[in-house]
Amino acid sequence: MANQTKFVLSSLEVAYQYGGRERVFWFDGNGKITAENGSFERPSANAFSLLHKTDCPHKTPICESVCYVNRLEDAEPEMYRMYRRNSAAIHQVLSCGYETAITILAFVEWIASRCKRGGFRWHVSGDIFSMEYAWFIRAVVIRTPDVRHWIYTRSFHFSETLHGLRNIAVNLSADRDNFNEAMTCHNQFGFRICFMATEGDVIPDLPKGSVIFPSHELRGRDLEQPTDAPWWKSLSLKQKHMVCPPDFFGQSEALRCGPCKKCLLFGYAKAE
Ligand code: SF4
Repeated sequence: MANQTKFVLSSLEVAYQYGGRERVFWFDGNGKITAENGSFERPSANAFSLLHKTDCPHKTPICESVCYVNRLEDAEPEMYRMYRRNSAAIHQVLSCGYETAITILAFVEWIASRCKRGGFRWHVSGDIFSMEYAWFIRAVVIRTPDVRHWIYTRSFHFSETLHGLRNIAVNLSADRDNFNEAMTCHNQFGFRICFMATEGDVIPDLPKGSVIFPSHELRGRDLEQPTDAPWWKSLSLKQKHMVCPPDFFGQSEALRCGPCKKCLLFGYAKAE
């Protein structure tokens, strides 16, 4: 049986001198993604998240139906409430150049002081929702050169903004609905393909360094022998090496981001 994932939240208050306004942003973390910042049992906040679907302008029918945040929204309502607050705050900030500049500096300070060891993940929930937000992320990444960032996105045309940065791993979230577009982006910029496999999918020929995420019904984590799962048996050896270990086998101190670096390495060619 899979171990229970633990979640944490940490706040950042930002004061905007001109206008006299204050905003609160929430950083979240969980045992799977905390990497070297914490442990599976004691995760640290190291992510900034938004609303799923609403802040995912390039969601696909497949990802909408199997998104893990559908479950998270019910299981962790307090966490999701903060995603909602983050979403409202960042949309408002990005409509004002002054607030954008101040918020970038505040994010830089928070991330640089807390995430040097384990890295920072953009979006447990949500995606790059606009070009202005893509530039916001780029500005934070550039100003935190000692932090390893990673992101998953279906906003392929905004992801170009993150090209050429040495400290962010860009992962293109692909499924059978958007695979061709993901490959076009991969071929142009070299970003990694992260393919979400669902029931009935024939997994396409994935480039070296790709990662496969099985949706819930394909996972073996609740079986005594996960490798008995029919889906696992149907994979080639190359595909088995691409599967996200905690998603398929279940999460633990050893099976999580950090010990596993498939999505964290910069440059897709280095991931195998
Ligand atoms: S493949 Fe590895 S790095 Fe990627 S999400 Fe799974 S555990 Fe994390």
